[in-house]
Amino acid sequence: MTPPRLVNVALPLPLFRTFRYVVPDGLRNAVVAGSRVLVPFRNERHIGVVVSEHHEEAEGRAILDAPDEQPAFRADLLAVCTWMAEYYVSPLGMVLRAALPAAMGRARRAEPPLRTQRVLRVAQPLDSLLQRDAVFKRAPQQRALYELLEQLGGQSPVAHLVERLGCSEGVVHGLVKRGVAEVVQEPVDRDPFLARASPPRAAVTPTAAQRAAVAALCAGAPGSTFLLHGITGSGKTLVYLEFLRHVLQARAQSAIVLVPEIALTPQTVDRFRAVFGDLVAVLHSGLSDGERYDAWRALRRGDKRIAIGARSAVFAPLDRLGAVIVDEEHEATYKQGEAPRYHAREVAIVRARESGAVTVLGSATPSLESWHNAQTEKYHLLSLPERVGGGALPAVRVVDLRGETGPGAPAAVQALRRILSAPLETALHDRLDKGEQSLLLLNRRGFANFVTCPDGHVVACPNCAISLTYHRAPERLICHYCQHTEPLAQTCRECGAANMRQRGIGTQQVERLLTERFPTARVARMDVDTTTGKWAHAEILDRVGRGEVDMLLGTQMIAKGLDFPNVTLVGVIDADVGINLPDFRSSERTFQLLSQVAGRAGRGPKGGEVFIQTRTPGHHAVQCAVEHDFLRFVGEELPTRDSPPYPPTTRLANVVISGLDELAVAACAQQAADWLEPRLSAIGDAVTLVGPAPCPIERIKGRWRWHLVLKAVRPAPLTRLLRSFLTEFELPGAHEMRITLDRDPVALL
Ligand code: ADP
Ligand code: ZN
Repeated sequence: MTPPRLVNVALPLPLFRTFRYVVPDGLRNAVVAGSRVLVPFRNERHIGVVVSEHHEEAEGRAILDAPDEQPAFRADLLAVCTWMAEYYVSPLGMVLRAALPAAMGRARRAEPPLRTQRVLRVAQPLDSLLQRDAVFKRAPQQRALYELLEQLGGQSPVAHLVERLGCSEGVVHGLVKRGVAEVVQEPVDRDPFLARASPPRAAVTPTAAQRAAVAALCAGAPGSTFLLHGITGSGKTLVYLEFLRHVLQARAQSAIVLVPEIALTPQTVDRFRAVFGDLVAVLHSGLSDGERYDAWRALRRGDKRIAIGARSAVFAPLDRLGAVIVDEEHEATYKQGEAPRYHAREVAIVRARESGAVTVLGSATPSLESWHNAQTEKYHLLSLPERVGGGALPAVRVVDLRGETGPGAPAAVQALRRILSAPLETALHDRLDKGEQSLLLLNRRGFANFVTCPDGHVVACPNCAISLTYHRAPERLICHYCQHTEPLAQTCRECGAANMRQRGIGTQQVERLLTERFPTARVARMDVDTTTGKWAHAEILDRVGRGEVDMLLGTQMIAKGLDFPNVTLVGVIDADVGINLPDFRSSERTFQLLSQVAGRAGRGPKGGEVFIQTRTPGHHAVQCAVEHDFLRFVGEELPTRDSPPYPPTTRLANVVISGLDELAVAACAQQAADWLEPRLSAIGDAVTLVGPAPCPIERIKGRWRWHLVLKAVRPAPLTRLLRSFLTEFELPGAHEMRITLDRDPVALL
């Protein structure tokens, strides 16, 4: 009798090992490396993935089912996930699950997508304040909800209001009873990318610089990586398109295109669809589980040959992969915030290597890591140093806010000029008169930034070590980390003083100021609060594109990839917002943000102009953005990463220990350091330890946080050390203690 066949199966559990199972005869052909299998584990059933044959003779429980006709993972993707599990020190089963659509990780079949939802909408407009006061006399919460609805464009799904915005069902009901709003059943948003008309394909001839870049990419060896450094407006997208045309048509291969966030880049997606039409699968976050599974199957079958999406599109199950494009490769959104905490750019490069594809990293402001890799010739550098059609980069003017409010000026003028300097206000008037459009960036949502008493006690979140943000419509304080919401108190919790005051500025406040100063202007605001609907981003941007908006005000959302020729003015309300964060990347991020938003101006024949308001005009991040000088920025920033060493000079791993008790967390962090130190000396200090220390944000969602930062020039010793730490170091049982590992973190907060 032949012994039973055994395989090793990875299960989606936080365990660093695989489990062996017997393959029943009936499933012999269906079970190969990469297939999903339904297996018993303890008293449950799990969907696992076969990772290899088990060659020793042994006992094992039998596999219950193998649902795939074709293995869910081809060899290249299985190899990518194995690399991720190793490098990010994450259980393989969890990585594999993260790489599949959610519907495929469940033992039960995916539910059919939900088709209708309850939507609350304004039924009776209340135009005058008097009318409002009368209707809502003793119902301030109803009034707040009504005004919130107005802000959201007159309607919003009830589930959204209740679950995300913290409104109560009772207040919704009250509004309906009063007759000023109604609840209707509406179809759930359909995939807007299907409905969006593809823009006409204007015949464009690539410039000489674009042609040279495309030729280099077409000649690129399988597995190689290119950094495409092209200034804003230099036509990087056309380079991607022409290269993909070659990949798809001449070589009959397929491609993955990663973008930082689909919702923010509808224009980029439109351009790919205009050229490749039905061959494109757009993997956006609005897809239901069922739709996502459909898209996955279409890619697996080869019906779709280009996958466009945010970071998880890097796992698209395409065969014959020829190219992986990472647009705006410097963006922090490529880092996954929860386990497995992978960086999609790094995974893209490994994927391309495993599949024999070419990786293209594109940016006007490359990350210092990628720049360093290009300088050391790990990547091939391609440059587009000029704007297409001879367009000039916009002139950038710095406005020193310290000089804007003379000491003798009346308080009202001072308050105004803190937000809107005289030169920026004049420029806005000028654009309004000419019918041109303006963008205004303020990287801070809400109304005022925070609230204090006269003695300077700031109202902070009870769960997190940060201040609450004041929001005006409806009026309340919100924690941007844990969404804790509370009403605005009249007196200080700490000292009882009255006269609570709002300080700092947020987007809501600037919006109000703009409507006061420019009563005829059509102002739109784009931040997390106005874009809660799935397609709100695309709608706002389409309005800008149709010329229905004179001034678009927003957070960093408006800095990405927008290409509107009639935008001739960009204003940065406060360049200093991110500059002083306690993080080694704060200058880099500020430079990138300022350069990117400045690059939105003057993309058409009318040219453009940028105003940067700041109190630190001498800072090199500001100075280099003013001069559009990436090379100078790199030259000044890189030396600051040498000592103490930070990326790209070294690699980092951030180990965060968190728990409910402050002292216990501190003690545990010290034990972790004591555990690590002898092991660091044993490997000759190939890895060094900084800390333990409290995290810059000491508490989030009620959990105290300490961290240990490990640094290593070479990755392998760090991988080994992290793995033994995570598998051998014993956490105390009490206080819900937890360890999280973030390798190559984008921030140390
Ligand atoms: P980037 O991403 O580098 O900032 P885009 O790819 O958005 O730049 O291109 C900027 C603008 O120039 C777009 O409107 C694009 O259609 C246009 N464009 C790109 N290449 C050409 C070309 N060769 N001829 C004419 N217009 C072009
Ligand atoms: Zn909080």
